[in-house]
Amino acid sequence: MADRFDLMIIGTGPAGLTAAIYGRRLGMEVAVFGDTPGGNLVKIENILNYPGFPGGVPGAQLGAMVFAQAQAEGAFVPMRRLEKILDRDSGFLGTLDGGGEYFAPAAIIASGVVPRTLDIPNSDKKGLYYCSLCDGPLFRNKGATLAVLGGGNMAVHEALSLSAFALRVIIVHRGTSLRAEAALVREAGEKGNIEVVLNAVVQEFQATDEINGLTVVVNGKEKRTLPVNGVFMAIGWGADLGVIQVEVKTTPEGFLKTDAKLMTSAPGLFAAGDVRDTDTRQIVTACADGARAANFAFEYIRKNRLEGGNVRTGPET
Ligand SMILES: Cc1cc2nc3c(=O)[nH]c(=O)nc-3n(C[C@H](O)[C@H](O)[C@H](O)COP(=O)(O)OP(=O)(O)OC[C@H]3O[C@@H](n4cnc5c(N)ncnc54)[C@H](O)[C@@H]3O)c2cc1C
Repeated sequence: MADRFDLMIIGTGPAGLTAAIYGRRLGMEVAVFGDTPGGNLVKIENILNYPGFPGGVPGAQLGAMVFAQAQAEGAFVPMRRLEKILDRDSGFLGTLDGGGEYFAPAAIIASGVVPRTLDIPNSDKKGLYYCSLCDGPLFRNKGATLAVLGGGNMAVHEALSLSAFALRVIIVHRGTSLRAEAALVREAGEKGNIEVVLNAVVQEFQATDEINGLTVVVNGKEKRTLPVNGVFMAIGWGADLGVIQVEVKTTPEGFLKTDAKLMTSAPGLFAAGDVRDTDTRQIVTACADGARAANFAFEYIRKNRLEGGNVRTGPET
């Protein structure tokens, strides 16, 4: 028998945790599933653009604070990844890997994004990284050469952060110029240990046990092998939709389509934060989405008089 809640939330990033806080304050019984308190916040060294913290706040600290707040409000947070969310006649059934079932008449997907990768030979080998803040320190004082794949802000940010640890950082980009903001490109140029290889298509990673090089085709004809000690992917992000076993509409880029009330094409299933089709993917917008999605989910349950856990249905609307 499934444990019953009013609202089930997938993701413990800023969107999911804010939805939990708002959901609880509306009187709903809320379950939030996640693997990391704060989601992607833990990858941010110092957040300089979140209101209220002049001089910045470490991402892990902010994540832990929001997580503690959601718990203090009484949300059920088992810190487990939900394996699947399935459509049931009057709501959604969530299942955990290895047992455990949860039911709620409404759910919010706040599962964020995952980095895109390349499907080329040896991409399954060790030595491929997705977060300079998390894995850059592995290369401290090792005289390493690191490649960063990509040409936008993300790639240049990664290169700048890695330049503190590596002897040499090579940005490999398929375009004819970097797409990153001019100020970032300038900063990279001033570092002295960041190089850029343009018009370069990566064909394969060289590897024995671990990746030790990459083969690129430059200008459509010249094949080159760049010896490296590690490769950091920075070619963008895609929505993390692995959990959803419900039919939902997505954009061609794979983000969840939502209406003005943040509802997906599946009635009762809402989306908040980076996972949805939005113009800004930031902490402050993820929090705003979380708050709004919780309010809209509450309104949906009340209007449809759905039975979940203990939601206060209030006066007739
Ligand atoms: C390196 C880096 C630096 C950044 N810097 C800034 C910055 O300075 N300022 C700023 O405003 N924004 C910044 N951002 C963006 C910001 O982190 C995101 O916009 C924000 O975290 C999005 O919040 P979210 O809740 O939508 O998703 P996320 O924070 O990604 O959280 C989603 C969580 O859901 C989990 N999840 C996925 N599937 C499941 C499942 N099946 N079951 C349970 N849990 C699941 C994920 O593992 C993840 O922990 C940065 C991002 C990165 C990567």
